[in-house]
Amino acid sequence: MSELSLEQLWAGWRHEYVSSATAAERSGEDGGCVFCRIAASGAPSVDNLVVWRGEVSFAVMNAYPYASGHVLVMPVRHLGALDELTPEESVDLWDVTRVAATAIDAAYDPDGINMGANLGRAAGAGIPQHLHLHVLPRWSGDTNFMTSVAGVRVMPEPLTVGWQRLREAWPPG
Ligand SMILES: [Zn+2]
Repeated sequence: MSELSLEQLWAGWRHEYVSSATAAERSGEDGGCVFCRIAASGAPSVDNLVVWRGEVSFAVMNAYPYASGHVLVMPVRHLGALDELTPEESVDLWDVTRVAATAIDAAYDPDGINMGANLGRAAGAGIPQHLHLHVLPRWSGDTNFMTSVAGVRVMPEPLTVGWQRLREAWPPG
């Protein structure tokens, strides 16, 4: 393949995605929050890339995926710490995470699934002020393509395609 930089490879995605997250939203400086903005953006659509939305939690395609089908599950309410979750939010968050894994399984038939949370910027969270769980499919031997080599990371599928696949695979109810 030709030598494309990481910036070039992802530029289109940034344009395509809601990840018109402002610098302030990423830093949380002025109280702006890209996840709250997405949460308020209404029903799931290819525009907001929300895959599923409930009263308490929702799932959205990750703007900066490690792999195709990389979903973020989070509470609708703006909170950063696990102990801020109400019991209802806690149960719902896990429930949606479990369903997301089921949908990823059905849509991608991966060899495995990673799920987890980065709590705090030091742990790798890009948006630490709004708690979110990562759920993503993994394949045997995918380490190489997931690793940035010479600044290039190949993403096989546009976010909108992943959104479509997961929407179709998301269990009803
Ligand atoms: Zn928020």
